[in-house]
Amino acid sequence: MRFVSPLLKHAVYPVLHHAGWLDRLTPPGGCAVVNYHGVVPAGYSGSETFLDGNLVQPEILRKQLQFLKARYHIIHPEDFRASIERGKPLPPRSVLVTCDDGLVNTLTDMLPVLQSEDVPCLFFVTAASCSDEPGMLWYEELYLLMRNQSLTEAVSQLPIEPGVEVPSSESLQSRWWRTVRRASQLDASARADWMVRVRSQSGSKQAIACEKRWRLLTVSELRQLAQAGMSIGAHTRSHPVLSLCSDEEAQREIQVSKLEIERALGRQVWAFAYPFGNPATMGDREFRLAREVGFCCAFLNVEHWQGMNSNPFALTRTHVTAEMALPEFAAHLSGFHLRLQRAVAG
Ligand SMILES: [Zn+2]
Repeated sequence: MRFVSPLLKHAVYPVLHHAGWLDRLTPPGGCAVVNYHGVVPAGYSGSETFLDGNLVQPEILRKQLQFLKARYHIIHPEDFRASIERGKPLPPRSVLVTCDDGLVNTLTDMLPVLQSEDVPCLFFVTAASCSDEPGMLWYEELYLLMRNQSLTEAVSQLPIEPGVEVPSSESLQSRWWRTVRRASQLDASARADWMVRVRSQSGSKQAIACEKRWRLLTVSELRQLAQAGMSIGAHTRSHPVLSLCSDEEAQREIQVSKLEIERALGRQVWAFAYPFGNPATMGDREFRLAREVGFCCAFLNVEHWQGMNSNPFALTRTHVTAEMALPEFAAHLSGFHLRLQRAVAG
């Protein structure tokens, strides 16, 4: 599939998109779910291509929303909830818009686009956004710090991930991801203490270079997002790789985020999104915990999960990236990309 990808992106998908052929398909499950991670804020001129690949330009977001309005039926998150809880039928070619992590640019730069296009969105935020303390995602901060130095001493203090061999040479991304996995074995407060040590060893207070790019919503900003008519879901307490947490810590991560956001907003939080949300970071235990904690549904960050087509705690989503052109976006949402992948896999 990797070999045919450029051909699909640059030739096949554009032809199918412009011919309107993708518009005739029904998304798998009847409802497509699109997932953003915020937008590139005004004034940000960074060149952190690895992490920035998750953000889209506001004008691209607008074009994608206009496409969805023209070719799909954008549903309100509460209608999605009613479809799960009470079997309320959804219109044909429904699509739900979601956004993970709760970066402050979701309020400053993304919300104005959503409002001017009159599109509701379900935002998944961590418990860090239930505080007045400005924070950032620890694994993003870690990446920014690891770009400049190896942090060997701090990394050596982390638990080893059993059964994982350290390659003799590896890229920054690979070294960083191994460190994220090792640090995910600590509980949230031990990891926060470790990050304090990382900062002191690197001589950095906190690596927020451009606030609107990296900072998380504070509680008053989260309330503004909710008061603007947006729906809010939970995304754990501290965004670890859940599969590497102990049973107690995984349960706490999921439950605390629900309780703290409910307390901050004074409304029920019914939806959950798994951090990272792919098969390398979670599985059946997390599906069970999300159900037991009292959510009505939970979302992955991948379009396909083996053997799970209708589990409300394993809902698939299309992860929108910066380099995804409109024909590719259309091919993913329609389910065509996934059907093709399955056909090629045999
Ligand atoms: Zn996330």
